Amino acid sequence: MPHGSRTEIVYETVIGLEIHVQLRTRSKMFCTCAADYQTAPPNTRVCPVCLALPGVLPVINRRAVEFTIMTGLALNCEIAVITKFDRKNYGYPDLMKGYQISQYDQPIASGGHVDLPPLTTVGQAPADPRSSVQRVGITRVHLEEDVARLIHIGNGTGAYSLMDVNRAGVPLMEIVSEPDMRLPEQAEAYISELQQMMRYLGVSTANMEEGSFRCDANVSIRPAGAEELSTRVEIKNMNRARAVVRALEYEIKRQTEVVRSGGRVEQETRGWDDELGITHSQRSKEEVNDYRYFPEPDLPPLEIDPAWIEEIRRTLPELASSRRARFQDGYGLSPYDASLLTAKRTTADYFEAVVRARPYHGEKQQAFAKETANWVNGEMARLLNAKGEPDADIFSTRVQPERMATIVELFQERAISNAAAKQVFAEMFESGRDPDAIIEEKGLRKVEDTEALLPIIDEIIGSNRKAVDDFLSGKETAVRFLVGQVMRATRGAADPNVAADLLTERLRNLGGA
Ligand code: ADP
Ligand code: MG
Ligand code: ZN
Repeated sequence: MPHGSRTEIVYETVIGLEIHVQLRTRSKMFCTCAADYQTAPPNTRVCPVCLALPGVLPVINRRAVEFTIMTGLALNCEIAVITKFDRKNYGYPDLMKGYQISQYDQPIASGGHVDLPPLTTVGQAPADPRSSVQRVGITRVHLEEDVARLIHIGNGTGAYSLMDVNRAGVPLMEIVSEPDMRLPEQAEAYISELQQMMRYLGVSTANMEEGSFRCDANVSIRPAGAEELSTRVEIKNMNRARAVVRALEYEIKRQTEVVRSGGRVEQETRGWDDELGITHSQRSKEEVNDYRYFPEPDLPPLEIDPAWIEEIRRTLPELASSRRARFQDGYGLSPYDASLLTAKRTTADYFEAVVRARPYHGEKQQAFAKETANWVNGEMARLLNAKGEPDADIFSTRVQPERMATIVELFQERAISNAAAKQVFAEMFESGRDPDAIIEEKGLRKVEDTEALLPIIDEIIGSNRKAVDDFLSGKETAVRFLVGQVMRATRGAADPNVAADLLTERLRNLGGA
C-alpha cells in the first residue's frame, strides 16, 4: 500500500474470488458419458444429451449434487431444501448448445465462511493457526456444467481452432466468496485452503495447472476506511496461485495509478498475461453479456431431503483445519509439525495410524506422537523427495504404520543409535522389512551397558596416544575423535553419549594419575 502524505489518500484493496472446481464424478453432469475427459482420446466422450440434440433430456448427476452439499457443509453454508437449475445463454464456440445449465437465484449452498490460517513468511513456521485467523465469507456454492475445450493453432491468416467436446458437460462447482480479502497473499491462502479442502473431501483433484481448479479474481481499491465498494475489475486466465498474486499486485498498482492521476477505474474483464506480467482488457462493461437466465425447462426443481443432508454431514471427513488444531491440542505437536502433517489427508491418516498402533496415553502418547512426527516429516519425507515423489501417498510406501511404530519406539527407547535408526529406516523404505529383523541381522542393537563398552574404550585409549595426549594437554575436543573410534569399533552400536561420558571419565583418571 502506498505511503500516504498529507495530501495523498491511502487506498485499501478489496478482493473477492470466484473459483470453479471440476468434480471427480464418474459420469458427466447431465448424461451418462464418462467424465474422464483428460485421458480419453478427443471427441470420444459425447452423446446426444451433451450435444443437446433435439428430443433428448438431461438427468441430474446425484453424486455431483452430493459433492456440492459436502462442500457447502464444509464451508459452513446453509443447504437449500429446494434448489433449481437455470439456463445461462451466450454464444461462444466452446458451447455447442448455445446455453449452459447453471444455477442463478437458488444455488445449492449459500451464506457460509472459511477461516484461513494466519499469513506466514515463506520458510517460516506458521504461527498458531487458531490465533488471528482470517474469516472469508462464502456467498454461494452452485453447480453447473463445463464447456468444450478449444485448442488454438497458429495466429493470423491460416489460424484455426480444434475442438474437443470431451470436457463439455463435466460437472463444475462454482464457489463465490464475499469481497472480504485485503491482500493478494490472502487470496493465495484462500486458494490453497480451498484446494486442500476439496482434496480432503475427495470431490476434486483441485489442480490449477490441469484446470480442475480455476480462479477468477475480482479486485477494486477504495479510500481506506470507506464503507462502500468501488468499481471492480475481474481478472481471468491465471493457472497458478502465484499468478493470481502477481496479477492482483499488478492490477492494484494499475488501479492506484489510474485513480491518482484523476481517472476512473472501468468495470471490465481483464486477462492475465503471465509472460509479460500484465493484465489487458478483454471485455468492457458495455459488452458484458446479457445471459437471459431463465429456469431450465428440461429439469424440475430439485428437492433435497434434509435427512440426506444430515447423513452427508455425519459422514463428512475431518478437515485439515480441525485436524491441525487437534494434533496440537491432543498430541502436543508444534503448529509447524501439525501443518506439515495435515497438508495431505493421507499423510495425516498415516501419522494417526502410527500413533494408534501403540496403546499409549497422556504424556507417553505425546512423546511418541512427537517422535512419529519427526520421522514422518523427516526421514520419510526426505526419502520420498530423493525418489522424486514428494507428493506420494505415504500408505503406498513399503513402510507399514505398524513397522513405523516399531522403529520410532526402538529409537525412543534408545535401543539403537540415531545413525543406526536412519540406516534401518532406509532399508525398511526399500524392502518394507521388519525393523527388528534388520537390526538383528546387521548387529545394530546399541551397546549401552558399560560393562560391554569399557574394554573397547580402554583399547581405543591404548591405540590412540596422540588424541589422548591432546586431551590431556587441554584439547577437550579430542574426545570427539575417540568417540568416533568407539562407534567404528562397535559398528555404530554404542550410544555415543554413553561412550563420550565413559571416555572422559577414563581420560580424567589418567590425567589425575
Ligand atoms: P459475476 O458473475 O458478475 O462476476 P458474482 O457474484 O458471481 O458476479 O461474483 C462477483 C465476485 O466479485 C464475488 O467474489 C465478489 O466478492 C466480488 N466483488 C464484488 N464486488 C467487488 C468489489 N467492489 N471489489 C472486489 N471484489 C468484488
Ligand atoms: Mg464473475
Ligand atoms: Zn454425453
